[in-house]
Formats: sequence, C-alpha cells, structure tokens
Amino acid sequence: YFITFEGGEGAGKSTILQEVAAGLVTQGYDVVTTREPGGIKIAEKIRQVILNPEHTEMDARTEALLYAAARRQHLVEKVLPALTNGKIVLCDRFIDSSLAYQGYARGIGIDEIYQINQFAIEGTMPDLTLFFDISPEEGLKRIISNKEREQNRLDLEALSFHEKVQYAYYQLLNRFPERIKKIDAHQAIAEVKQRAYNEIIHYISSN
Ligand code: C5P
Repeated sequence: YFITFEGGEGAGKSTILQEVAAGLVTQGYDVVTTREPGGIKIAEKIRQVILNPEHTEMDARTEALLYAAARRQHLVEKVLPALTNGKIVLCDRFIDSSLAYQGYARGIGIDEIYQINQFAIEGTMPDLTLFFDISPEEGLKRIISNKEREQNRLDLEALSFHEKVQYAYYQLLNRFPERIKKIDAHQAIAEVKQRAYNEIIHYISSN
C-alpha cells in the first residue's frame, strides 16, 4: 500500500507519520517511511536546490519541474521497490503537494502540474492520502519562531499563501474523494495520530 501524508505546514503531519509508522510496526506490519522532496540521495540534492533561500531567481515552472524530477527518482529508486516487496510505504508529501503549492498557490495551474507529474509518475498514484487540515492561522502560529511569537506578529503574506494552500487541498478533496481523507489536525497530537492510524487500518483491512 502506498499511503501519502499531505497538508500545509504546522499541521504536524511529519511527527504523526513517524508515530503511525511505529504503531503499524508494533502490529507486525512491514513499513517504510520516507519524505518528499528527498528520501534518497539525488532527490535530497534536488531538495537543497529548490529550498535554498539564496535561489530567489528560481522560476516557478523550473521549481515545478525540479519537484517532479525529484519525485520520479524517489519513486523509481525507493517507493516502487518497497511496494514490490509488499511493504506499506508512508510518504510525507507526494503529487498533491505539487498540485496545491505549485499548481494553485504559485499559480501555474492544477491541470498543468498534473500533466508534468503524470510524465514523472506514469500513473502511480497513492492508494490512500491523509490530508491533515489545520486553519492557516493556527498552522502559521505553530511554525513561527518564539521571537515572532513574543512580538505577536503574524506575517500577512505568509498567511494568504497558507490560505491558498488550504483552499487548494479542499479542491483536491473534491476531485479525489475516494482517495483523499481529511483529518482535522487541530486536536492534540495523540488524538490526530489515532485518527490517522484508524484510517489506515480501515483502508488496509477493506482492500
Ligand atoms: O513537508 P515540509 O513542510 O518539510 O516541506 C518543505 C517545504 O517545501 C514547505 O515549506 C513547503 O511549502 C514546500 N513545498 C512546496 N511544494 C511542494 C512540496 C513542498 O512548496 N511540492
């Protein structure tokens, strides 16, 4: 099973992914955890190129192509072999992040990003996607530094970007209602983790 974790920043998805994986391993499942962009050497290098704050001249389509390139290498080198070996792959971000961030929030267009990603993934879509939904204000509060918190300052530009990302994920929920399950990420982490775990167990036992 190929299961992806999605959502804006500050939803806690990366922490929850590790805890859910530990829970599944305890139950005897064979689990591989990984993340995008990255997860393998070449893709981690591409990640450094994309996320380098000095690269302010990066064009939005160049960025989208680099994400797609990192995705393909990671899929071919790590995800597909693990799936072939019968493992459960839990992946932190996948195509939906590109659809939401590059396609919608960066304004390239969801359909355009879907197309270049189909070239990269050749139809390998996740079996199940958990979308961790957090209000943009709350998500931003969770990730801003303590200093900014003291000054009680919320970056309005960042806020409108997070609002776009959330709106994009809502559109994706409508487009892929069978595959994507929304999980409210406002509760305590133990509660959110339990829901995520339950969704996965439910999917595995009925497919
Ligand atoms: O998952 P994580 O929060 O570590 O993602 C790292 C950064 O990459 C985030 O700030 C996110 O905004 C960005 N990102 C992106 N487009 C993607 C995947 C991640 O802009 N397709």
